[in-house]
Amino acid sequence: MFENLSERLGSVFERLTKQGALSDADVATALREVRVALLEADVSLPVARDFVAAVQAKATGQSVTKSVTPGQQVVKIVHDELIRVLAGDGPADALKIDNPPACVLMVGLQGSGKTTTTAKLAKRLHDKQGKRVLLASLDTNRPAAMEQLQILAAQVGVDSLPIVKGESATQIAKRAKAQATMGGYDVLFLDTAGRLHIDEALMAEVQAVRDIAQPRETLLVVDGLTGQDAVNVATEFDGKVGITGVVLTRMDGDGRGGAALSMRAVTGKPIRFVGMGEKMDALETFEPDRVAGRILG
Ligand code: GDP
Repeated sequence: MFENLSERLGSVFERLTKQGALSDADVATALREVRVALLEADVSLPVARDFVAAVQAKATGQSVTKSVTPGQQVVKIVHDELIRVLAGDGPADALKIDNPPACVLMVGLQGSGKTTTTAKLAKRLHDKQGKRVLLASLDTNRPAAMEQLQILAAQVGVDSLPIVKGESATQIAKRAKAQATMGGYDVLFLDTAGRLHIDEALMAEVQAVRDIAQPRETLLVVDGLTGQDAVNVATEFDGKVGITGVVLTRMDGDGRGGAALSMRAVTGKPIRFVGMGEKMDALETFEPDRVAGRILG
């Protein structure tokens, strides 16, 4: 997920920790390199700038350069600052799925991995927490996408709402809610339609569905490979629909990881899960301290 960034930072810090005594100028030079490494990882400029400024403020004017292991002290400060940038004010809670049936609204652009992620989450809740899960696709524009969700539901061993031709997205949402209540389900996932780009029609439809579904969680699925674009998409969706968290997909293919680093700082919304492959169990919870550890090797 962060191979490139990790390698770059690794070489900066290796030099720093080998050096023994450090001057403020040595630290400043190293931090300039950290800034470049972050920008090359596609971290947004303000985030990279704030990050380095925060580390610099803690590393200079303190006892760091005079300590026995100054290089390691700087690494520790970077580590803590990474956790801060990834976690914001605190850790992301587990999905709020008490008060059954709890509705989880899945939103995002077409091709972002929304349907796949819906099935992965369903599998996780079913297998690990024994939840009764119902999946419903609202993608009335793409019958193939509706069928795809049914196929994946069967594959992971959860139920899906039968497809009724000619219904609108809001009609399906209403039927799904009723079915979830009558059927005694714990969780209902609504897989909304995506578009190739954000447009008014997409947002209006998602808003209408949201108002009917009254979701406990609205998860935005974005393609992590798109870097800063993923962060822009999140900002747009949050402004128009209101999201409770983000799932970054295709992080198995992203050695840079910039979207993961900028997301919380720019949007204020936590990354809840990351997609690490096409298989149904290739989904990880996003834990800032583990991620920071991974970045620093
Ligand atoms: P949707 O249009 O947003 O519903 O996207 P899909 O769920 O149909 O996913 C589009 C493609 O991306 C499919 O081929 C998925 O297998 C693939 N995909 C989804 N998530 C991941 C992931 O985390 N890693 C990889 N490598 N592929 C993924």
